[in-house]
Amino acid sequence: MPASIISKDKDSIRLRIDGYPLSAVNALRRYAMSEVPVLAVDDVVIIENSSLMYDESLANRLGQVPLRTPRKYLDAGEGQVMLVLDAYAEGGTRTVYSSELIAVEDKEVKPVSGEIPILRLTKGQNIKLEAYARLGKGKEHSKFSPTSKSVVKPTPLVVIKNKNPKNAKAIVSSCPRNVFAIEGGELVVKDQYSCTFCMECLKVSGDIEIKETPGSYILDIESIGQLDPDVIALKSAEILLRDLDEFNKAVDEL
Ligand code: SF4
Repeated sequence: MPASIISKDKDSIRLRIDGYPLSAVNALRRYAMSEVPVLAVDDVVIIENSSLMYDESLANRLGQVPLRTPRKYLDAGEGQVMLVLDAYAEGGTRTVYSSELIAVEDKEVKPVSGEIPILRLTKGQNIKLEAYARLGKGKEHSKFSPTSKSVVKPTPLVVIKNKNPKNAKAIVSSCPRNVFAIEGGELVVKDQYSCTFCMECLKVSGDIEIKETPGSYILDIESIGQLDPDVIALKSAEILLRDLDEFNKAVDEL
């Protein structure tokens, strides 16, 4: 696909894709959410639990802690990692955080954030458990989804018909996405890709036109943190192409 990166940071990537139908770009969006695998806790052995939290609730909470997933597991297409949690409230009531969930053999696997509260222990209570994380896909359970956002929209085309409108300041402040700016005394489009087609600017001025660029789409992917956003986009395309190839072969064999 002719795709270009509009912006990228550690959490998100914004791509422009030209020349393909919406259905193809939407397939890429769906694959990012539901076909790119990540590690998540799926089996828990509770050795000791004197807390007030039921074993089942504790296991459920551990499953929802996003785990950094090294690329090697994606390339292998499988993987299981054991993590341990051994916590005791010695001095008084305390919170057990995700930073205490430790991978035994592969130190690259760890919670995306160490500040996720798992449970509270009061003085003298403890928990001791083994948690087994495996590779899974978002279509199976949302805990295996690597994205907190995966959306497609047409590529906006914001046209200013008059660069010196009387109410330029009102146009700038009408836009919730900061698409406009005043530079050198003229109204300019600063960031048209952020336009959400809300049409608020049209309520204050007839000098603006909001259009869709034909055959062009913006794909926004935001990572939960298990994988870098560019890895999610690349893997999504790779898995989609592999599935299409398999589909082609199946049709050829009919
Ligand atoms: S349509 Fe909405 S988001 Fe787009 S430029 Fe106008 S006010 Fe901004």
